[in-house]
Amino acid sequence: MFQLIKRKRKDLAERVKKLEGHIYDLETNLIHDPLTGLKARAFFEEEVSTFLQIISQQSEAPTGVSERKERFGFRNLSIIFFDIDHFKKVNDQYGHDVGDKVLIKVAQAIQSCLRTGDTVARWGGEEVLASLLGANEQDASAKAEEIREMVEKLVFPEAPELKITISAGVTASEKGLDLNSLIKRADQALYNAKNSGRNKVVSYSNAGDTK
Ligand code: GH3
Ligand code: MG
Ligand code: MG
Repeated sequence: MFQLIKRKRKDLAERVKKLEGHIYDLETNLIHDPLTGLKARAFFEEEVSTFLQIISQQSEAPTGVSERKERFGFRNLSIIFFDIDHFKKVNDQYGHDVGDKVLIKVAQAIQSCLRTGDTVARWGGEEVLASLLGANEQDASAKAEEIREMVEKLVFPEAPELKITISAGVTASEKGLDLNSLIKRADQALYNAKNSGRNKVVSYSNAGDTK
């Protein structure tokens, strides 16, 4: 009798452990993109929307009395939309596996140039979105330019002659603008960077006639 209870207990404990493992995997995949290790799109949307809400509440509070301002410490944020240039050609010429390695290395380069408090996510296939807390459009453009130069210099042992470039669109938060509107602006600036020759950083306020 006691043996049976003991065995049942052991079985149950093993099943709980297995379930906990599944839940952990689910959570990890919801937060992270499995290929690049960057944050997942849904995580970015939730986190950056929250930051934007806090920023907008702070700007409404009278100065000097907002406790949240003290705690959060940021009055703005900027978004950078990165996209690898001619990435389809990389897959076509070198194969999907090399394409994946390029994606991982570019993602690491972007992440390594930004601060731990910034949010960097894989937005789509070869698109990365970064949110920089406390950065205005000029700060974020300078950062994007630094990253663009870094990517240009990357070397891929699997394809030593391969050169990769990225384009980027940059925009800063503004009162009344939600995350979708900000991303649209960054995308417009990115479109401008692509149209004006690629391997470029364009900020929304300088995006000219594509607005
Ligand atoms: P552009 O300079 O205009 O951005 O051109 P592009 O070729 O980079 O743009 P396009 O959007 O046409 O191609 C994106 C390619 O990215 C197509 C798709 O096969 C590839 N891709 C998407 N996800 C992955 C992935 O996870 N791994 C690999 N290797 N390729 C991917
Ligand atoms: Mg793309
Ligand atoms: Mg591309």
